[in-house]
Amino acid sequence: MELEKYSFGVGDRFGHQGKAQLNAIMKAKQKGLNIVPVWNKSHREHTIIGTCSCDVRTEADTAVKELDWTDSCYVDADHINMSNVDGFIEHSDFFTLDVADYIGKGPGHDDQKRFRDAALKYVGTLNIPDIQEQFKITGEDIDRIGSKFLFAIKEAGRIYRHIEQAKGKDNFITEVSMDESDTPQSPVELFFIMLMLAEENIPAQTIAPKFTGRFNKGIDYVGDVGQFEKEFNQDIAVVNFAIKEFALPDNLKLSVHSGSDKFSIYGPINRALKRFNAGIHIKTAGTTWLEELIGLAQAGGDGLEIAKAIYNESLTHFDELCGPYATVIDIDKSKLPSSDDIEKWDGQTFADTLRHDPTCSSYNSDLRQLLHVGYKIAAQMGVRYLDALQRYKETIATNVTDNIYQRHILPVFS
Ligand SMILES: [Zn+2]
Repeated sequence: MELEKYSFGVGDRFGHQGKAQLNAIMKAKQKGLNIVPVWNKSHREHTIIGTCSCDVRTEADTAVKELDWTDSCYVDADHINMSNVDGFIEHSDFFTLDVADYIGKGPGHDDQKRFRDAALKYVGTLNIPDIQEQFKITGEDIDRIGSKFLFAIKEAGRIYRHIEQAKGKDNFITEVSMDESDTPQSPVELFFIMLMLAEENIPAQTIAPKFTGRFNKGIDYVGDVGQFEKEFNQDIAVVNFAIKEFALPDNLKLSVHSGSDKFSIYGPINRALKRFNAGIHIKTAGTTWLEELIGLAQAGGDGLEIAKAIYNESLTHFDELCGPYATVIDIDKSKLPSSDDIEKWDGQTFADTLRHDPTCSSYNSDLRQLLHVGYKIAAQMGVRYLDALQRYKETIATNVTDNIYQRHILPVFS
């Protein structure tokens, strides 16, 4: 199974927007942009909502059938590890092995020595094609990088082989992710991580490093865009070089776990893809759920009441909702509107405040982040919420499709 050059990961908390999401990919195809959809959902999300990977498979298959999509599509077991992978094996064909928690755990002495032996030839000046900068590598660098990452990549190997045994080689796509770690990986670290992947015989087709800057959920990038652009270009050059140097899969590409809506780095990503003629996987996580809320608000009536009720409950359960996402949200509580404030809002005001349009003066990124993690409230609402998705599905679908197509696909790929 070989992942295409451009792939786009969509998350869908409640599994109702598969067709609206696929419609965005189809609009891109009509414009000559060939992108394949990947439906991703993490163990954390499944647990909060009470779904399983079989639901994601059904959603993907239904959308594909009803819209006559004949290109590939994938179901991604997102951010899984050894403790939860088994629940994903049957219905997924894309596995994101999350080994961030294993970074910094010291490897065994023999493993460290084997890595050192393989890496020693790069001590001295490391020249990587398409990178102007020369990297000075010392034996200490090799040991430091080994101590930091080798145990994690060994763990990725263990999970990979577990899946391979169950599904058979070549029957699934492997991604290795380290994006949910504390510090970014430098291009040099990425190079040696790729050596480790090769040594561990993991045929990764995508790799998700942690890039420089903050990737908060549902809002724009926070950080030095110039520095990101430099590193992103260097990372692509490193990947291209490492593929040849270590005989990794030819189509291995970077995966950007955007946490959604990193609009200010889409320009740099677009330029880098063109410069290198490189592929990419983009994961957008939870934007679709927010488009559902926007659609409900716009629809007015009970739709708007539901959107308001979810916001009010989210305010009440602020700590409980934000806790699991503490490292990837940044909410200024003083900027959150009160229940009394929003009581007066009409649907358009609610939609404008939530929709990620930085040019709109009503847009409130604090409210957006809170609602981003507030999907648990909607899940607890159960039938009332799901019925509303059904009742207002046209308004919602338009928002879901437009958001993916206009705000994500076009800036990254066109
Ligand atoms: Zn991620």
